[in-house]
Amino acid sequence: MSTKNEQLFAQARKHIPGGVNSPVRAFAGVGGTPIFMHRANGSKIYDTEDNAYIDYVGSWGPMILGHAHPKVIDAVKKAADDGLSFGTPTPFETTVADKICEIVPSVEMIRMTSSGTEATMSAIRLARGYTQRDKIVKFEGCYHGHSDSLLVKAGSGMLDIGEPTSKGVPADFAKHTITIPYNDPQAIKDCFEKWGDEIACVILEPIAGNMNMVIPTQEFHDTLRTECTANGAVLIFDEVMTGFRVGLGGAQAHFGIDPDLTCFGKIIGAGLPVGAFGGKKEVMSCIAPLGGVYQAGTLSGNPLAMRAGIAMFEDLTVDGFYDELSAKVDQLIDGFQAAADKHGINLRTNKLGGMFGMFFVKDSDTEAPKNFDEVTECDMDVFNTFFHGMLDRGIYLAPSAYEAGFMSIKHSVEDIDESIKAADDIFAEMA
Ligand code: PLP
Repeated sequence: MSTKNEQLFAQARKHIPGGVNSPVRAFAGVGGTPIFMHRANGSKIYDTEDNAYIDYVGSWGPMILGHAHPKVIDAVKKAADDGLSFGTPTPFETTVADKICEIVPSVEMIRMTSSGTEATMSAIRLARGYTQRDKIVKFEGCYHGHSDSLLVKAGSGMLDIGEPTSKGVPADFAKHTITIPYNDPQAIKDCFEKWGDEIACVILEPIAGNMNMVIPTQEFHDTLRTECTANGAVLIFDEVMTGFRVGLGGAQAHFGIDPDLTCFGKIIGAGLPVGAFGGKKEVMSCIAPLGGVYQAGTLSGNPLAMRAGIAMFEDLTVDGFYDELSAKVDQLIDGFQAAADKHGINLRTNKLGGMFGMFFVKDSDTEAPKNFDEVTECDMDVFNTFFHGMLDRGIYLAPSAYEAGFMSIKHSVEDIDESIKAADDIFAEMA
């Protein structure tokens, strides 16, 4: 690790808690010093001494077109020339709203926010306002941002700091959040049997990306849809991560399920701060100024983010985009798998569209984890060795065994080959 990087981290820790503005960036789970980056282009991200890393984090998902995509950058520059924020409606918001409603049929109306956290928090409030009920159901290991009622048994960075529920969440808030195991249809039925007419909504990551990557069964999704409909509960898909990532139509297209509300973020702003929540007109009409559920934002629908999003949608909607992207993911993950098998490393993988998960399980009979408990049983020491080995070889993976990986359309055959070769070397050393 370079002295310059160590110095930057020491300097950052003076006035920024832990030296980071989002905990998972601190390398708490994997140990060592986080790398300070200063620029990025295409598939690569560069540290402050301009060492290049092949980037499989992509700012935690948004950079599906690769970093500094000329069309997006151009759109942002033009938008900046026209002024940064007006606090009025703009035609750009309408274009993004129309685009999302056109691509995702379950979304009839949509409201922009400035982050995924705001989107999920507002969707929950809306569901409560619509149903006039208080209880919400979430799943172990799913992360929905950092609002109070959703930080109960959450995934992502919460897991790295070893806190199942954040300190500072009043017990009075947490008591309205029912948490059940992911990917377990019976748990859903039991939950509705017990609290059916008190449940305002069920929120979930339809494919979990905050406990590494767990793809649930069709039965799980079918059960959820049936139980929510039967009990008058709002089904909320949190597609902040999976939206426009696992495929153009997101996880809901993959499973053929129409949720009542969907939350978006990340990709729709192409790398600028953004979020959105939308769904059935009947539910969305309860939001102010149409209805009595309040939600607002000084920078919601910010023109820079909207114009970046519009530029990005142009590429995402080109025929074959997702085929090309998922072929890259297949090539990378199949290569990692073959290298692991060759050296007797117990690697299990999941992948869909531009997203992947890697689990180092403890023995050759263990399958890929299907829920949060199984994820926690993986060999974290092996993951940490792999992570640091890759980092030393110029390959930047998520610094946590609980996070998914992301590829962009700019990852080249050379990037993929280099990454597989690095993994092969590390697995050989580990064997
Ligand atoms: N929902 C999911 C599924 C996420 O992965 C995240 C962030 O990673 C959020 C919500 C929160 O989004 P943001 O970090 O933009 O607040």
